Amino acid sequence: MAAALALWIGWTTVGAQTGLTAAQAGGEGTEAPPVAKKAAIVIDDFGNQMQGTQEMLDLPIPFTVAVMPFLPTSKEDAELAHSRGKDVIIHMPMEPVKGKKSWLGPGAITTDLSDEEIRKRVEAAVDEVPHAVGMNNHMGSKVTADKRIMRIILQVCKERQLYFLDSRTTGKSVIGELAAELGVPTAANGLFFDDQYTMEHIMKQAELFKKKLDKHESLIAIGHVGPPGKKTAFALRKIIPQLDGKAEFVLVRDLVKLTQP
Ligand SMILES: [Zn+2]
Repeated sequence: MAAALALWIGWTTVGAQTGLTAAQAGGEGTEAPPVAKKAAIVIDDFGNQMQGTQEMLDLPIPFTVAVMPFLPTSKEDAELAHSRGKDVIIHMPMEPVKGKKSWLGPGAITTDLSDEEIRKRVEAAVDEVPHAVGMNNHMGSKVTADKRIMRIILQVCKERQLYFLDSRTTGKSVIGELAAELGVPTAANGLFFDDQYTMEHIMKQAELFKKKLDKHESLIAIGHVGPPGKKTAFALRKIIPQLDGKAEFVLVRDLVKLTQP
């Protein structure tokens, strides 16, 4: 035992002398600057065995998984993401200005619904997705600009202690203003990686993500599983090591803020 301990001490001493650079050992004047930038990636549209689900969950960074409610693998995907150390949020389907209702999926929030029905649907969605710490909007360019509806959705978020991430599918969103009024922590998306599905576009957005991070202290960006899923996972895997030492990958919950009205 004593011999083994002596050997171990001997080995670590050698390691300290030869194996570490001055910066690693915290040598004076050579310390690396602290990583100031914070980047939060959100991947939308989980819940329906979408393409790229596995590739995304295999990414070696913390990120936030947005799960659509009431779909065949909603619960399974939320459990899987949680077990892999990712944060889970509810990806609430909401009516867009343009587009088909069929793109929204079950339990969607549309502007023709009564106050009671909206509350019922949002509460059911929260109950459906385990481990959720927040919510963001799937589509929703029409609903997120509607004060009557957003007030109900944000009120439920407040009651269930969820933050709301504005996916920013419209410039007319009322989320910031109402969340401040109701006391719901919020943040907003700064960039979509894959609003077009070509590899060329996704790589271009990944470069833009790095450029935007140069100018901002923190940045939230959204990608998707589904048709672009595998390509987006590939692009992310490419830029993750490039940001090493420049930005830290965090969760959206680390970036949400409670704003004063
Ligand atoms: Zn979506």
